[in-house]
Amino acid sequence: MDLGLKGKTAVITGASVGIGLAIAEGLAAEGASLVLAARGGERLEAEAARITGKYGVSATAVAADVANVAGTEAIIAAAAEKGGADILINNAGTGSNETVMEAPDEKWQAYWDLHVMAAVRLARGIAPQMKRRGGGVILHNASICAVQPLWYEPIYNVSKSALMMFSKTLSTELIPDNIRVNCVNAGLILTPDWIKTAKQLTAETGGNWEGYLQSVANEHAASKRFGTPEELANVFVFLSSERASYCIGSTYFVDGGMLKTI
Ligand code: NDP
Repeated sequence: MDLGLKGKTAVITGASVGIGLAIAEGLAAEGASLVLAARGGERLEAEAARITGKYGVSATAVAADVANVAGTEAIIAAAAEKGGADILINNAGTGSNETVMEAPDEKWQAYWDLHVMAAVRLARGIAPQMKRRGGGVILHNASICAVQPLWYEPIYNVSKSALMMFSKTLSTELIPDNIRVNCVNAGLILTPDWIKTAKQLTAETGGNWEGYLQSVANEHAASKRFGTPEELANVFVFLSSERASYCIGSTYFVDGGMLKTI
């Protein structure tokens, strides 16, 4: 199926590893040129160069923290330099671990800035570029935790839920400009971060990190396995394309059967 993404320009945050990198590769494989953002410039630049070498598309690396204004402005400027963006993937984010009773205000604020304000600021800066180009696509990578919480990470649950509502609200505002906004809620996706956590948690009890990950999958997902970043990226790539032209203002679950409601 030709997705018609050749020549489009896509901005992807959190693109140096894991899900964001898989989405970047998926879009590059379809011929899109890229603006990739993450804080760590070295890893990002290496991946941008690798993607250009492998797929023959241009990939610009922007070392930027999306949780502050200067970071989002740098990303918006990099997209403008390419003539504007057609696709924005708000993916940068991370899990948390706390209780409501103990977490300080500063922690709530930091996750609000990372998961919500980054998306707000990037939409404000990049939607006008899309409008000038005749339309576009904005996708938010929230989480199944936006609707089905994991109790050890209340700040993650709440901020991802806010991101999901932001996506819905933004979609109505931008569809008159032919900009389709959607949200994706993933379940368990096996990224290097999960492997690192599993290794840490099992270090003192024999090091069976794979067994630990299997137990997590058994407990949470009907499929009893993690998804790969590529399995999730496929959905982002489809939603980025004109093939998803009637997908507007929704949230799509990619969770291997983890969601326990209809
Ligand atoms: P990883 O930790 O593997 O990668 C996160 C990426 O985001 C890295 O490129 C990191 O680079 C970048 N990043 C983190 N903080 C910032 C910041 N402040 N500014 C710019 N870039 C940043 O995460 P995953 O791939 O696992 O997750 C990606 C998204 O998917 C997250 O939003 C996560 O909540 C969501 N998700 C993940 C699931 C999973 O099971 N893995 C399930 C459901 C949702 P650097 O550190 O250099 O900045």
